[in-house]
Amino acid sequence: MNIKRISNPRIVIIGGGFAGVSLAKVLSKQDVQVVLLDKHNYHNFQPLLYQVSTGGLEPDSIAYPIRKILQNYSNFQFRLANVLEIDPKNNKVITDIGLLKYDYLVIASGSETNYFGNTSIETNSMSMKTIPQALNLRSLILENFEEALLTSDLQERNALMNFVIVGAGPTGVELAGALAEIKKGILPKDYPDLDTRLAQINLVQSGNRILKEMSEEASKKAEAFLEKLGVNVWKNTRVSNYDGKVVTTNTDVVFETATMIWAAGVKGANIKGIEGADLVSRSNRIIVNEFNQLKTYSNIFAIGDVAQIETEATPYGYPMMAQPAIQQGKQLGHNLKRLLEGLPLEPFKYKDKGAMATVGRNKAVVDLPKYKFQGVFAWFVWMFVHLFFLIGFRNRMIVFVNWVYNYIRFDREARLIIRPFKKKLKSDE
Ligand SMILES: Cc1cc2nc3c(=O)[nH]c(=O)nc-3n(C[C@H](O)[C@H](O)[C@H](O)COP(=O)(O)OP(=O)(O)OC[C@H]3O[C@@H](n4cnc5c(N)ncnc54)[C@H](O)[C@@H]3O)c2cc1C
Repeated sequence: MNIKRISNPRIVIIGGGFAGVSLAKVLSKQDVQVVLLDKHNYHNFQPLLYQVSTGGLEPDSIAYPIRKILQNYSNFQFRLANVLEIDPKNNKVITDIGLLKYDYLVIASGSETNYFGNTSIETNSMSMKTIPQALNLRSLILENFEEALLTSDLQERNALMNFVIVGAGPTGVELAGALAEIKKGILPKDYPDLDTRLAQINLVQSGNRILKEMSEEASKKAEAFLEKLGVNVWKNTRVSNYDGKVVTTNTDVVFETATMIWAAGVKGANIKGIEGADLVSRSNRIIVNEFNQLKTYSNIFAIGDVAQIETEATPYGYPMMAQPAIQQGKQLGHNLKRLLEGLPLEPFKYKDKGAMATVGRNKAVVDLPKYKFQGVFAWFVWMFVHLFFLIGFRNRMIVFVNWVYNYIRFDREARLIIRPFKKKLKSDE
């Protein structure tokens, strides 16, 4: 890998997401050699992926080069590498560009879509965890409209314009709201020859309320917002299969659709070599103690989505969200410093800063630890918070200008089929 061994301890971090980057920032001031490995050369701001899928933002505005994040840190090395396996007994990682020895290893590889073993859903549905996937979805949505315009088969046209989103967490809700706004604001202008009333947006949820991680107040209000936008919300409906044409559920509800978007599950993106029931949870997350340390290997740590800090208070770990990942990254940086100074480690304490989701223009729900509010003010808070956490001044400016433009013009100008998507072509993921 062309990385010289120096006398300082070597810390290898797998993953330049929220957790890996926040750890890297703390370690930048320490006497250690840090090697960050990621299979992408950019940090992906996942909370805004749905805006890329729906033509609201260009992908470049939510991605940021990892090398640029690290360029002022003299003790850092970055390698574009896919980590294939960890060999914990010999303190090395095996990647597609070679082997690397470590003194300390931090696994911050995030999460991946969980299809719960249903290969038919996995093959036929769209997911939205990466930028290539968001671009695939953008292409497919636009290609559907182009095809709908051409076909004379009404059943086919209906299926092309029928969108089914499975999972009514923040991702599903935000995507449904954005598609509803496309139906209302863009379709009539772009496709005057198409009966845009045929476009249906269905949000399917197995439980009895949407945004179940948020307050009841937020759930109810978000559902009311969605209904106002014309989204069909199907609660207590569990999707059982999708063959690429028909979505079946546990009730008598079926959908004929060319597009099912799966936002109903995530699991840890664990890496081969970390195995066994005492190290890996049922949701494929790495089980760690309150210091983010693995049980059997005291020089290996896991942070962020892939880590399950198992304590009495958190038997299933912290939610797979940006804040726990950022806070764990910072705390581990602090703890690694203490470890190298021979001091005892300090336990991770999560500061819950609340949760939020936007449904569309002027419509958002915000649950803060002390206050809950919805509507226009919540929408401004949502925008401010997302701009604040976006990495890079240029990205913030571009996103801000885009949002102002889209707001004033009721528009989404990134509705481009740059790279046509052929269904079942999953090689870009
Ligand atoms: C569509 C969507 C919307 C979301 N919205 C919100 C939201 O509104 N609010 C919120 O708090 N959270 C949201 N989240 C969740 C949030 O993005 C995650 O919790 C957060 O990204 C976790 O950070 P992380 O560092 O653990 O993982 P990630 O940010 O996923 O980073 C993991 C990194 O590891 C790299 N990697 C993985 N495996 C390997 C490997 N084998 N070799 C090399 N590199 C590897 C990946 O390329 C990636 O860069 C959303 C997630 C999605 C998908």
